[in-house]
Amino acid sequence: MTDRIWPEVYKKLGVAPIINAQSWVTALGGSIMRPEVLQAMDDAANAFIDIKKLNLAAGEVVARSCGAERGLVTAGCSAAQVLMVAACMTGQSEANVEQLPDTTGMKDEVILFKGQRNRYDKAFVTAGATLIEYGSEDSVTSDDLDNTINENTACVAYIVAPFVPSGIGLKETIRVAHERDVPVIVDAAAEVPPRANLSEFHNLGADMVAFSGGKGIGGPQSSGLLAGKADLMEAVVMNSLNLDSSVAGIGRPMKVSKENIIGLVTALQLFTDSDEATEWKGWQSKAEYVAERLTGIDGVRVEIEDDPAERQGPQPVLRFGNGYSGPSIAEIKNHLEAGDPGIFVGGGGGGREEINIVMVNVQDGEEIIIADRLNEILQG
Ligand SMILES: *Cc1c(COP(=O)(O)O)cnc(C)c1O
Repeated sequence: MTDRIWPEVYKKLGVAPIINAQSWVTALGGSIMRPEVLQAMDDAANAFIDIKKLNLAAGEVVARSCGAERGLVTAGCSAAQVLMVAACMTGQSEANVEQLPDTTGMKDEVILFKGQRNRYDKAFVTAGATLIEYGSEDSVTSDDLDNTINENTACVAYIVAPFVPSGIGLKETIRVAHERDVPVIVDAAAEVPPRANLSEFHNLGADMVAFSGGKGIGGPQSSGLLAGKADLMEAVVMNSLNLDSSVAGIGRPMKVSKENIIGLVTALQLFTDSDEATEWKGWQSKAEYVAERLTGIDGVRVEIEDDPAERQGPQPVLRFGNGYSGPSIAEIKNHLEAGDPGIFVGGGGGGREEINIVMVNVQDGEEIIIADRLNEILQG
């Protein structure tokens, strides 16, 4: 590794840092915590506290930030997904909490639009539930949902993410489900920023909503936030690491450390207090820099795209047409990843013939390295 700082802790293990132009993806380390977050975690590490009291107090911060009745810090959005389903199945029955993952006698079906199936949905069945699909991959109606709800339905799940379609929409999903007295739980892991989304889905009437703490919010990578209606959130607490209860919850393997609880609430407060427009401008100027450096290459079209339904922040998108004679998309990515430092960009997935360079995790100055290397590779 040349020129760049290689933190000793990683160097000792022989693992080199990379440039993350792929967004807040788990596989590349989520996000970088602000110094204030690290300081808060350092402070937290130096005292013992009652962990349940701490998380209940932190949950009040989460609830306020989300405009919800009650909140909790979880060990990630996936952990929150497990707890949401567990809560919908057990309610506030200690016997039910003790019995999971055996769901005998409980409503234990989670309903999800087929088009929203994704690699995170295993978390919906971890607590013992069964996943039931409705609609087909690309066609779905309110009746499809209504006809799928039955006396075994524990909840309807809904995913908000750039890589899944919206189906009948969250608002309509809530309308249909509530008509049948069934709660709606939402996985919106990577949907903040925009900051308004912290409360948006609650305002639409969702019963519980989960976000990752270690993505756009900039908290510890293995943290998440969950908020929602008070009665269901009480059931969530019962199923979580609930050390003052004699009942063993399904959430015990998903405990959140005192450092991570403090890290998450600190990150959340800094995030909600900071200016979204300034953050956006930083991404925009990096996107413009790279786009400009890549214009004029034969057969390569570069556009900056920022549609929030598809893109995490403004980003240059490269498409290849007539007259392009360089390496394929897969080859370009291989070259970038094998370099020093390795550069990870988005694209080539989901049938899209493109390379997209996501700026939300690109540190100052790294856009220059990205532009240099892409120029070399594309112009051979
Ligand atoms: C990242 C992600 C998750 C998992 O979140 P963690 O905080 O890493 O547990 C779940 N669902 C979606 C849609 C995601 O993007």
